[in-house]
Amino acid sequence: MKEHDVIIVGTGMAGLCLANLLVKQTKFKVALVGAQVPEIDSKCIRVCAFNKASINIFNYLGLENIVMSKGSCCYQNVTVRQDHMSGELNFNATELGFANLGAVIANQQVELALWNNIKENERISIYCPSQAQHWCYKNNKHHITLEDGSNISATLLFGADGKKSWVRDAVGIDVTTSSYNQAAIVATIATEKPHQHTAWQKFLATGPLALLPLTDSNKVSIVWSANTDYAEYLMKASDEEFATLLSKAADFCLGDLKLDSKRFSFPLISQHAKQYVKRSVAILGDAAHVAHPLAGQGVNAGLLDAAVLAETISAAANQDSDFQRALISYQKQRRGLNTGLIFAMSQLKNIFSNSNYLLSNSRGFGMNLINKSSFAKKVLAKHALGITNNLPKEIELHNLGTMPD
Ligand SMILES: Cc1cc2nc3c(=O)[nH]c(=O)nc-3n(C[C@H](O)[C@H](O)[C@H](O)COP(=O)(O)OP(=O)(O)OC[C@H]3O[C@@H](n4cnc5c(N)ncnc54)[C@H](O)[C@@H]3O)c2cc1C
Repeated sequence: MKEHDVIIVGTGMAGLCLANLLVKQTKFKVALVGAQVPEIDSKCIRVCAFNKASINIFNYLGLENIVMSKGSCCYQNVTVRQDHMSGELNFNATELGFANLGAVIANQQVELALWNNIKENERISIYCPSQAQHWCYKNNKHHITLEDGSNISATLLFGADGKKSWVRDAVGIDVTTSSYNQAAIVATIATEKPHQHTAWQKFLATGPLALLPLTDSNKVSIVWSANTDYAEYLMKASDEEFATLLSKAADFCLGDLKLDSKRFSFPLISQHAKQYVKRSVAILGDAAHVAHPLAGQGVNAGLLDAAVLAETISAAANQDSDFQRALISYQKQRRGLNTGLIFAMSQLKNIFSNSNYLLSNSRGFGMNLINKSSFAKKVLAKHALGITNNLPKEIELHNLGTMPD
């Protein structure tokens, strides 16, 4: 039986980020269990829009290069539009006092950079590829059996094992789950006009459509969320019909659009764990919360979970104080904010999918009004950039930059 201080289950972005932070901030011996070894598969086209807070965490870990890596694209502008009626919101980095508003980066690129940063570290024991299969708690320790029959144990257990979290189920943490009755179609798209480093979002009555700029100035990644029936139709449509419907849905903002990859479809759910902590176990990332991808906040929230969890645990370790209190503090700091995030995403999805004339008109009026108010825009932008959250002090001081009032 190999003994550790902490076991992290999950080698997605949240688990790898937590492992990196614990190595940097504590003297813990960490066991990292993951079903998959991070690698670049050229067929995988998943990207995420990372906000300022996430980029700051990468910088803090000495991974400034993630943002500069092949395939990543910083965006300077964000444009949000609604269907039917006029109504537009525009955010510009220079106006808000930043060099950019975030970066679109391939998920696998981020995972690989986080993995390479720690895989040789002497305080990390890697059990990957390997699935955690059995858990029990005995003599104040968590004991986990892996699929090859080997056993590991530790004082603390952290589950970053995604929305179907094995850790969450094993220790008996309940979740509430509901379906948005939508699916998100993801694809890489070739555009007629250059994207000009603009992330573009349109709220259609059938669901939101996002165009995220990629390194090639004539390529974007789309996340087209649509009611289940329409999403099925879009998945079955020929490449030509799909491209025509997409170009039209995007108001030809980048001219004619053409598919540059296969289409992938993801059913969309809202899910929240009733607690993030149970005794000496904590869950984070998608294991704890899943929201609609319409504002691209999912992994950004997961990385902040990792930052807060590492900070509270390392403070407890340094002061020789109780880990239980540290875990409760993590839950207090993160669960409320993530509840707000999940609620806001559901409300936005519902408000914008209502095509009632009066509602549509007032939405457009409201968006145009906000667009004219630099104060209101700054408040909204601070939320989207992740800089209203109480970032852990060390990370906050690490080159976050400030937004002029
Ligand atoms: C269409 C779409 C677009 C999105 N766009 C954005 C965006 O622009 N910005 C944003 O912030 N978020 C976005 N998200 C959300 C984001 O993709 C997720 O929040 C993020 O990938 C979750 O990361 P994670 O590390 O928590 O979980 P995961 O990536 O699911 O990782 C979990 C890991 O745990 C492993 N695992 C599971 N069970 C076990 C076990 N028993 N033993 C060992 N290992 C195990 C799995 O193999 C996996 O590697 C989007 C989501 C979707 C669906």
